[in-house]
Amino acid sequence: MISVEEARAIILSQIKVLGTEKVNLFSALGRVLAEDVLAPFNIPPWNNTAMDGFAVRAQDTRGASREHPIVLEVIEDLPAGYVARYPVGPGQAIRIMTGAPIPDGADAVVRVEDTELIDDRHIKVFVEVERDQDVRMAGEDVKQGTIILERGALLRPADVGLLASIQRSFVAVYQRPIVAILSTGDELVDIDEPLTKGKIVNSNGYSLAAQVLECGGIPIQLGIAKDTPEDLEEKFSHGLKADVLISSAGVSVGDYDYVKQVLKKLGADMQFWKVAMKPGSPLTFGIIKEKPAFGLPGNPVSAMVTFELFVRPALLKMGGHKRIFRPLLKAIAEENIKPVKGKTHFVRVRLSTKNGRYYASPTGPQGSGILRSMALSHGLAVISEGQNPIKAGEEVPVIVMDRSFEDRESMSLRIEETLTEDKDLHSHDPGHKEHCC
Ligand code: AMP
Ligand code: MG
Repeated sequence: MISVEEARAIILSQIKVLGTEKVNLFSALGRVLAEDVLAPFNIPPWNNTAMDGFAVRAQDTRGASREHPIVLEVIEDLPAGYVARYPVGPGQAIRIMTGAPIPDGADAVVRVEDTELIDDRHIKVFVEVERDQDVRMAGEDVKQGTIILERGALLRPADVGLLASIQRSFVAVYQRPIVAILSTGDELVDIDEPLTKGKIVNSNGYSLAAQVLECGGIPIQLGIAKDTPEDLEEKFSHGLKADVLISSAGVSVGDYDYVKQVLKKLGADMQFWKVAMKPGSPLTFGIIKEKPAFGLPGNPVSAMVTFELFVRPALLKMGGHKRIFRPLLKAIAEENIKPVKGKTHFVRVRLSTKNGRYYASPTGPQGSGILRSMALSHGLAVISEGQNPIKAGEEVPVIVMDRSFEDRESMSLRIEETLTEDKDLHSHDPGHKEHCC
């Protein structure tokens, strides 16, 4: 039996990044950029005013004060979106609105509140301004020719805005992996079939599809295969049109566990059968015609946990993501947690925060078939093989799958208000900082 780390390394070393496709900017959110994007021009394209006021020659305001204002002639009104017709000469000013280009001749802006109208054509200026004061310089946001977004970036709303600001309507992104999911077992019925005695509902097909969606893949349901080599072979063959194949159940040592045998027959070069972990020990991985095939265990929790640890990073790598692992944090165990002999133990836990620290509490019975314990959890506490039992109050590393436990921002945005007891945020143990696993 190989360790979780060894299994991960074997899998990831054989996963290749998929090809790219062009998407419309409206579909770019959440996709992974497959090109370095260069700025084709400066942003902003020209010097412009950061304030409503008057474009002036800074030198003309020298010596101006409340007591000794300087009088300037106003030669033009310039709203945003227009260009001045005249240059600003000595003793002159142009009324200018935020965002309007700085007229020729002018090199600073006097804010409207530092002036007073004398008549239609003249103002008093009460302050001295420096050169470039309240001027946004051309290229101060983005300089022409610089990389504004790097290949591998996960596109967020601000990135979409940045792409729009350089008039990109299409952008190259990595393809989303198409993942064929096969549920195997004579005992399975689908969600819309009669649940007669001896049958169970194919929940794995749905939880695995949801996990595929959550990490950006496109799930395809191959349905339910009977525990016969013929049916498995037919359905698996069909699944080879996808980028990745996942099956659940039929991988242990039972009389009807044909998954390994069928994957081999289809040409899979199987890499391992079992991983030293609980839940989820029977697990197989191989490559068929350059496509990764994962035979996950059947128990609902085992299927989800093995997906989480092995399939998810593989799909993220295929999709061009740079960060393929979940955040790992250290939390204080609220109960004793036992290791499992010879295996890495993944314990479903609920997380909470108190006084800036994370706490982890097991979600009750940890049987591999108890899906509710998975649904109640925020993460998986990791107890490595050979480790001493974790006592309540001791730290345990937790893989975070759901961040909904974290403190919410309050109306006032004042962090003190979210702390009820210990107000001393600065007493944080630096050991509680997050790491990436
Ligand atoms: P197996 O690996 O075939 O021995 O299956 C292990 C356990 O997982 C059995 O109790 C199965 O009934 C259950 N199981 C298998 N496939 C599914 C599925 N698609 N959805 C929910 N439970 C399943
Ligand atoms: Mg079975």
